Amino acid sequence: MRAFTYETHAARVVFGTGCAERALAEELGRLGARRALIVTTPRTAPLVAELAAPLSVAAVFDGVRPHVPVDTVDRAVALATRAGADALLSVGGGSTTGTAKAIALRTSLPIVAVPTTYAGSEVTSVWGTTEGARKTTGRSPLVVPRTVLYDPALTTTLPAAMTAASAMNAMAHCVEAFYAPGANPVTDLVAAEGVRVIAGALPAVMADPAGEAGRTGLLYGAYLAGSAFAAAGSGLHHQICHVLGGAFGLPHAETHTVLLPHVAAFNEPAVPALRARLAPALGATDVAGGLTRLAARIGAPVSLAQIGLTEDDLDTAVGLVLEKDLGGNPRPVGEAEVRGILTGAVHGHLPASTRRESV
Ligand code: NAD
Repeated sequence: MRAFTYETHAARVVFGTGCAERALAEELGRLGARRALIVTTPRTAPLVAELAAPLSVAAVFDGVRPHVPVDTVDRAVALATRAGADALLSVGGGSTTGTAKAIALRTSLPIVAVPTTYAGSEVTSVWGTTEGARKTTGRSPLVVPRTVLYDPALTTTLPAAMTAASAMNAMAHCVEAFYAPGANPVTDLVAAEGVRVIAGALPAVMADPAGEAGRTGLLYGAYLAGSAFAAAGSGLHHQICHVLGGAFGLPHAETHTVLLPHVAAFNEPAVPALRARLAPALGATDVAGGLTRLAARIGAPVSLAQIGLTEDDLDTAVGLVLEKDLGGNPRPVGEAEVRGILTGAVHGHLPASTRRESV
């Protein structure tokens, strides 16, 4: 077995249908929190109203915006200070968790996270904020939620398209965990199980969005995916997604869905474990084909053209990706390789070696 370093973050995880309503007050109490600032969005506010009823709340900040703009964080920090908050309770998706993390970074307040999508941010030490077009990211133990309550009942309101895209985002964490800088035998194990669980649960949820078994599976898979990503980190796929999201405003989760099979197809020959461990987890003979088949089965977009990137954008996109440090990828990546991956993704065409697996 190869030598490895595996860094994990101490966190308490409570999982199960109804756990947020049942255990939130107790979990805040365990941290000695008496006046939490609730962080959320207007869309998730109805969920919050029910959860907050029995709690002693300092204030509610529902001004979360995508990509965590610095001025949003300024306003939230001012509110937390004014209201005398002693903890942060985030209820929402990755943007909400991200906002709570940015507040914690400045205030050192502990976070209790109740995720309502499959983003996985709640188990990582990664934070990010934006100022205009500039994105700043970092890692800090201060932003790792102390307690995470995974309650599948809170995810049933997530619209179908968002469910599919968010679950495929979690899938991307699992796939990249196999070759990201911190990949190790434990993250392989967690990521492979994440892929198996997500691939099994996602079609069930799309067929029956309120079904408890499917939603429970997806949220468990998302937890595994976030945990693998937290330790292994990310690679080429996430780097390309950041460029496409930042420069062309493409939607984060849908971009993951489309691009993932193309990056997986590119890296599969250099990472034998990808095919050996993940193809069976997808019920396929190759990872890229299995992912494409899954995306098509659930009606997710399969080309970048469908979500707004055209051939005319390719030169700019390739140039911007090449500005990134791509040195850690298991297969050397230069201009021709990036152009090949992006051209295939714009049209939704996988390399010939994997095409027979696609739909
Ligand atoms: P999001 O948090 O932006 O949520 C998208 C929309 O869904 C919002 O309008 C939200 O109100 C709504 N929503 C959330 N849960 C809902 C529910 N249960 N019912 C109805 N509506 C609901 O999207 P996301 O995909 O969860 O998060 C994406 C962001 O997370 C990106 O900015 C990404 O960079 C970040 N992220 C960070 C990390 C990390 O480790 N720091 C990891 C993964 C993702």
